[in-house]
Amino acid sequence: MSGILDSFGRSIDYLRISVTDRCNLRCIYCMPPGGVPLIPQSEILSYEEIRAVVRAAAGVGINRIRLTGGEPLVRAELPRLIKMLSETEGIEELSLTTNGTFLKRSAPELRQAGLTRVNVSLDTLKADKFRDITRLGELGDVLEGIEAARDAGLNPVKTNVVIMRGMNDEEILDFARMTLTEEWHVRFIELMPFSGGVEFVPSAELREHVGLLGRLEPCPDGTGITGNGPASYYRLAGARGTIGFISPRTEPSFCSRCNRIRLSPDGRLRPCLLSEDEIDLKTPLRNSAPPAELERLILKAVASKQEHHDLEGGDAAPLRARGRRGAMNRKMSQIGG
Ligand code: SAM
Ligand code: SF4
Repeated sequence: MSGILDSFGRSIDYLRISVTDRCNLRCIYCMPPGGVPLIPQSEILSYEEIRAVVRAAAGVGINRIRLTGGEPLVRAELPRLIKMLSETEGIEELSLTTNGTFLKRSAPELRQAGLTRVNVSLDTLKADKFRDITRLGELGDVLEGIEAARDAGLNPVKTNVVIMRGMNDEEILDFARMTLTEEWHVRFIELMPFSGGVEFVPSAELREHVGLLGRLEPCPDGTGITGNGPASYYRLAGARGTIGFISPRTEPSFCSRCNRIRLSPDGRLRPCLLSEDEIDLKTPLRNSAPPAELERLILKAVASKQEHHDLEGGDAAPLRARGRRGAMNRKMSQIGG
């Protein structure tokens, strides 16, 4: 069995798990310079608790898992969790989203533990700009991490690029050119207003800009690059790599093709990234609830998915000012992006 049908006919087969809210970087669109208040360690799900959720999720039809954060590679013994999840019956794909800083040293061990693919966030190809955007990172570490991931057999490596007007928008063609000669799979993500002060660039504008390099041909499904999720993938004629666009703010397909639910580090299931609604799994987990109860709560989360979020394309008001209770209850680092 694969996928759970939600109330709008979407098949939900994908669970994103934020394994920690801790991070070694402070990207300007994600966190303030001093970081965000941290979830107490005792509230964070243990690996055994995460496995119990994944077993229940697999039991009702979820077959793909992505680990994210915060920065997942700052959590101790991550390969141990990867091994536990890769051995879980019903899980067919296990991937990771990372800032890439620690990938160079951990890629072989992650692969060996059962990780199948990795997405690396990289918003600029310039070292000084990289420090401006991440506040704490070194570009060289991430580039070496991407190479190490490829060498370890984590395929494909996809690169997540958040384009911000006046910050890195002059690099759109540089990223796109990388796909011509290298097997780079670049995904441009529209900035979501979790943090004020930076302006997003609509995907339509990005596509037009990239079109200066040649015609963008849609990638057929089943190539191993396209998922069933919200990204649309293209290839420049003759290119080795691909270009994806993820458009939470301007394209309804972001919601109509949604295939996922999310689990926060403290065990809350989130049916939609951009809604505050959550279902508590930590309390039942810590009260020794049977697997059937976890399965029931996962099905409830899927059934409660809304048709679309209410983030308007042109509205740059930070999400923290738009939450129904006056402040968005979680930061991106606590939800997992
Ligand atoms: N630390 C890891 C990383 O940066 O890849 C994983 C967590 S991060 C929250 C997951 C993804 O969310 C990253 O690709 C990041 O660029 C993206 N992200 C964070 N804040 C965002 C925002 N305000 N708008 C769009 N994407 C954002
Ligand atoms: Fe950390 Fe990722 Fe957020 Fe950057 S985007 S601050 S790397 S969690």
